[in-house]
Amino acid sequence: MNRNIRKLLTEMHEKNPDPICTYIYDLAGIQKHVKNMLKTMPKQTNLFYAIKANPDKKIIQALLPLVKGFEIASIGELKIVREVSKSVPILFGGPCKKDYELEMAIKENVSYIHVESLLELRKLISLTKKSDKHIQVLLRINLRTDTLPKTKILMGGRPSQFGIDEQLIEEAISILRDEENTHVHLSGFHFHSLSNNMQAELHVEMVTYYIRKVEQWKEIYGLDIKVINAGGGFGVSYDDSPGFDWPLFTSLLAQSQEVSNLSDTQLFFEPGRFIVADYGYYVAEVVDIKMSVGHCYALVRGGTHHNRLPASWGHNHPFAVEHLARWNYPFQRPELNNSNVTIVGELCTPKDQLYKDAKVEVLRVGDAIIFEKSGAYCWTISHHDFLGHPHPAFYYITEGDHYESNNNTD
Ligand SMILES: *Cc1c(COP(=O)(O)O)cnc(C)c1O
Repeated sequence: MNRNIRKLLTEMHEKNPDPICTYIYDLAGIQKHVKNMLKTMPKQTNLFYAIKANPDKKIIQALLPLVKGFEIASIGELKIVREVSKSVPILFGGPCKKDYELEMAIKENVSYIHVESLLELRKLISLTKKSDKHIQVLLRINLRTDTLPKTKILMGGRPSQFGIDEQLIEEAISILRDEENTHVHLSGFHFHSLSNNMQAELHVEMVTYYIRKVEQWKEIYGLDIKVINAGGGFGVSYDDSPGFDWPLFTSLLAQSQEVSNLSDTQLFFEPGRFIVADYGYYVAEVVDIKMSVGHCYALVRGGTHHNRLPASWGHNHPFAVEHLARWNYPFQRPELNNSNVTIVGELCTPKDQLYKDAKVEVLRVGDAIIFEKSGAYCWTISHHDFLGHPHPAFYYITEGDHYESNNNTD
């Protein structure tokens, strides 16, 4: 926890009579973290940021000097990245691409398009021919294997809407080699099979399996492959269990025969969660505390319409309590001591729950609850306008523990 957050919250109370409700993103923390990640990565590897985890423009700006580029999956995301940089490399993925998206992506000079189906490949061939624009592609493959690590979110190694079935590779290659194709060039393969994997050893096994697969396809089809994109999916722990061990992952990777044999083929990673999750805080002030049928509830200004991750995953979201002094009423301030409390939001639905039966030492109305690990898939996946409450504020911690706010709350 950043030592200045307390000061910031006190200042917010001095300036504004309303209960606190804000996101705080630690940009300096993200930069330090990514610099550390880069230090141990083997020389054949490149780091991209999948912006869907958190497309906040200030985060993208903070990452711009550090990462190789950004992975995007829509024109909205493409625009955000291009507003930050006209030239930074972009990987364009995502299922269900429309013609206007493919055209815009080519116009905005994305580096690679991740092709997700045979139809998409055919459309791309015809669009690029018409516009006389060349494009490099990676084929996203859904592998026929049951050896992938088992995580909560699986996109590959089982039936899914993502990527091209491994059994269709031969057909994809023959489409690419057809004389109709004059402008689409195969640079490599893309895999993104899972999310939130905690096991570094298994992640190395998965990545080296990808590389071996690509080696086989190179042999069988006589391909010249420049890029293997091994996706994201590095896990973050939301409870006491250990998170993903990046130094172990990168050291095992560096020792692997498969990575040593890559020669000039580049291995890409495009994490989202692992880059930003730990550097976001969602802060919501306790507005009421009440007992109901023997259970205690703390109701906060905010909820799952701002941070839907706990409801989406059905987990308890880790938090810390920050005691704040402000209490302007002539009657007694409600207070809990050493009790269990369920933390809920301001929405008119019992689903609006952030933590069930948390043990707290002291919690008072007017204290702030700081939900940690709220940097990834929290604000961005939430139904912000359900019930029409005001959006949270957004604050950013920059170099030297300075804060800046963003008036734009969208
Ligand atoms: C979502 C996504 C990522 C990032 O996944 P994380 O689990 O956040 O690391 C990377 N690549 C693709 C194709 C994605 O859809």
